[in-house]
Amino acid sequence: MIKIMISPNRYIQGPRVLKETGKYIVHLGSKGFFIGGLTALSIVQKQVSASLKEHSMEYQFEAFSGECTRASAAQLSKKARTFGADVVAGVGGGRAIDTAKAVSHELGSALVIIPTVASNDAPCSALSVQHTENHMFDRFLILKKNPDVVLVDSQVIAEAPTRYFVAGMGDALATWFEAFTCTKSGAKNLPGGVTTAAALNLARLCYDTLMEYGVSAKLSVDQNAVTPAVEKVIEANILLSGLGFESSGLAAAHGIHEGVIALEGTEGALHGEMVAYGTIAQLVMENYSREEIDSVIDFCNAVGLPVTLRQLGVSDASPRNLMKAAEVACMEGLTTNNSYFAINPELVLGAIIGANALGEASLKGS
Ligand SMILES: [Zn+2]
Repeated sequence: MIKIMISPNRYIQGPRVLKETGKYIVHLGSKGFFIGGLTALSIVQKQVSASLKEHSMEYQFEAFSGECTRASAAQLSKKARTFGADVVAGVGGGRAIDTAKAVSHELGSALVIIPTVASNDAPCSALSVQHTENHMFDRFLILKKNPDVVLVDSQVIAEAPTRYFVAGMGDALATWFEAFTCTKSGAKNLPGGVTTAAALNLARLCYDTLMEYGVSAKLSVDQNAVTPAVEKVIEANILLSGLGFESSGLAAAHGIHEGVIALEGTEGALHGEMVAYGTIAQLVMENYSREEIDSVIDFCNAVGLPVTLRQLGVSDASPRNLMKAAEVACMEGLTTNNSYFAINPELVLGAIIGANALGEASLKGS
């Protein structure tokens, strides 16, 4: 068994680091093509461009369609190529980041990631998840390399809506459990090896950090304040979860999340919110003790992560409807297949229903 661990070349985190963007990325090239959503670009554009000018870097900012599809990546690649970009940067949340990754992959350029929200663990990885125009899973695009620089301005993260920060904790919540499952099943991690002690311990540290600092960090972010707890959780959401999932592996939490996306009503739910629910379902499917599952559910309730299908927007929780999600979750290529036992839609359906029942019970205080 070959162990492989991969990571971004540089991870930089701190308040107001974006004011020094040029200093941190100028070694990568001379023409930066920045891809982001309109809101994200409006937040960073002024300070980033001022810093790039100081370092004599040319730049172009380009808004993306809002969804990471093959078509949007191809269109932006064309623009980036015309501009002559040797550095592609993704600014914003997961979809903008995944789009920039696909464009950089296409161009063979350097890659910079500037998350403006800590809502998921996409920034550090060499993976771009592409969806169809209808929000359905399309494919995992594995990049030739991880980002060259991940630049995280903790002040920007703290000023973003708390919901994103909390969703990031939902994504990070799954990391340890999925990593541990992969050690049991021997499933390969994203670079095609098995986990290292380093990656596995980072995944564990991710979970422990959430449990210790998650609630206080959330309360500070409510006030747009950067505290040591906020810094810890940003690192957990972006770096620890990113390294943990990529170099240890994903399992049912993410597979079930792909299934839940397919259900009507979940269009407004964030990736991390669905992954949090997927985590509870994974624990149910793997028959964790009630105590262990309760500590995850209690955490979700304390920070405001959904624990029921209803909270995710699913109004039809009939087994017939939920079977659609279970079937998607079992699709070939999805990570539910990294479980350490044979899976099938009936088993996953039971877990989805069981998780919902425990979540509903927790809301009633039983
Ligand atoms: Zn995720």
